[in-house]
Amino acid sequence: MAYRAEYIWIDGTEPTPLLRSKTKVLEDGDTPGIWGFDGSSTNQAPGKNSDCVIRPVFECPDPIRGGNDKLVLCEVLLTDMTPHPTNTRAACAAVGEKYADQEPIFGIEQEYTFLKEGRPLGWPSGGFPGPQGPYYCGVGADEIWGRDIVEAHTTACMEAGLHISGTNAEVMMGQWEFQIGPIGPPQVGDEMYIARWLLYRIAEDFDVAVTIDPKPMPGDWNGAGAHTNFSTKAMREGWDPIITACEALGTKAEEHITNYGAGVERRLTGLHETAPWTEYSYGVSDRGASVRIPWQVGQDQKGYIEDRRPNSNCDPYTVTRLIVETCCSALAE
Ligand code: ADP
Ligand code: MN
Ligand code: MN
Ligand code: MN
Repeated sequence: MAYRAEYIWIDGTEPTPLLRSKTKVLEDGDTPGIWGFDGSSTNQAPGKNSDCVIRPVFECPDPIRGGNDKLVLCEVLLTDMTPHPTNTRAACAAVGEKYADQEPIFGIEQEYTFLKEGRPLGWPSGGFPGPQGPYYCGVGADEIWGRDIVEAHTTACMEAGLHISGTNAEVMMGQWEFQIGPIGPPQVGDEMYIARWLLYRIAEDFDVAVTIDPKPMPGDWNGAGAHTNFSTKAMREGWDPIITACEALGTKAEEHITNYGAGVERRLTGLHETAPWTEYSYGVSDRGASVRIPWQVGQDQKGYIEDRRPNSNCDPYTVTRLIVETCCSALAE
């Protein structure tokens, strides 16, 4: 029987791209090949020369439709088959390849906020919930909103075969997190984009929207990040490489911060478990540092580091490319 492939790609919306998708019906036994779309409707091409190419880079079972249906993540190419300017995956894949011998892996913690009628889910219309405190990892209908969506999303990620490693309710009411990893670049970015698409798509069925805005509510409410946990083989085996990586990130702090998601300065204020975006720091157990070395890693004298700076709306291809470039080049010396 014929089956459906949902082609998913990243558009050219600025400053934060959106996900787009469309359905192709394929004959039984046919594999999804290259396809095209109207780039003038996605900020990726002028109307007079509107065709863009999408090339499959990652496939998995479609947990929503089931059966033989598939999700197909694509990269965007120009018609001469070179990467489109909005294609950040190509550079990530090249850097991953260059430093493959160091075996870099990432676990990314994706925070996000459910929205209903423009307000975070569960927030009284025209008012505010009680102050933060009971919501993080909470239980009970007075604290938790959207758990049914979270459960459906987690099941879907598992059925799709993604490396989802956990979920939790976050500090602000209506805010949640899931983690993807640990896996290497660019696959961690591929799986993150599929997981984001599934989240938007599943929340649709609950008539709820999702935002990855890094500071959806101004004021004394936590922002949303994408803490990026990173290690190489050497870091997993010893302490000195952990420090080398932390120091290397300090030498490139500005380049990293400006590529860690639009509005990073709205979130990294120095309050709400963040370090100010203008300063770089690292430390064991320090959730007020730019980069945290987990307590257990300090104990074991080996393991991984957590870059706490990336925003929830970051591009995981760009974040992981920069971390590999900066840390693996220093570790190679
Ligand atoms: P936090 O305590 O900061 O909330 P989480 O449990 O949410 O931490 O996320 C930790 C992430 O780190 C997970 O995605 C996990 O897969 C990832 N991780 C664990 N070990 C490593 C490692 N050696 N290298 C890279 N990532 C790792
Ligand atoms: Mn976490
Ligand atoms: Mn978190
Ligand atoms: Mn974290």
